[in-house]
Amino acid sequence: MSEIAKNVARVEERIAAACRRAGHRREDVRLVAVSKTVPPERIREAYDAGLRHFGENRVQEAERKLPALRELDITWHMIGHLQTNKARSARALFNWIESLDSLRLAEKLDRAPQASRELESPLPVLIEVNLGGEASKSGVDESAALDLGRAISSLPNLSLRGLMTVPPVTDDPEGARPYFARLRELARVIDSARLPNVRMGELSMGMSHDFEVAIEEGATLVRVGSAIFGERM
Ligand SMILES: *Cc1c(COP(=O)(O)O)cnc(C)c1O
Repeated sequence: MSEIAKNVARVEERIAAACRRAGHRREDVRLVAVSKTVPPERIREAYDAGLRHFGENRVQEAERKLPALRELDITWHMIGHLQTNKARSARALFNWIESLDSLRLAEKLDRAPQASRELESPLPVLIEVNLGGEASKSGVDESAALDLGRAISSLPNLSLRGLMTVPPVTDDPEGARPYFARLRELARVIDSARLPNVRMGELSMGMSHDFEVAIEEGATLVRVGSAIFGERM
């Protein structure tokens, strides 16, 4: 068994245990393997270990790597900050945009041509929320999320599915729990606005050190990098 396959098995066990503790079904949580900085041959090892969802945070890196993996049945998630001038390329590469953080970007994505028949239309998107109000992080303020959701709701080629967050770093994974609970509550508030073409069922939260806490708080997408691929250089 490769090191990556062992890591995937270990992460799977941790996800299953968290689901049992929280009373969630395993199929309610999708594991997104964060493959930024990881070369295609190692991504393929994770694929061979059974993973089908992968996340990248840079358009240019994805443009370099994805062609080598084209024949694989992978759902690609964009999880990093996206500049509006990269919207067109991102639309052509990714199945999901998890890091939507402005109306301008939403409008660009909405108007970008559908490059491939394999990509879903309308494009599934998540609003990234900067819950910690950290200047170093992207994402909209909590107070702006509902208005952005309302604006996305009227864009015909985007489908708002939920929220994503990267909470402030804490040594103890428990430190992230209040942020995860707030993201869940914010999704509930937006959902109760009953916006047309909007379903707020997805919560993308939790990384290698805190995904179990995130699952306990209702994560449907966990973004796990180093626990699968090892520490990044
Ligand atoms: C890098 C990254 C991750 C994965 O982080 P790990 O700690 O390696 O699991 C998750 N989400 C985002 C947005 C990232 O940039």
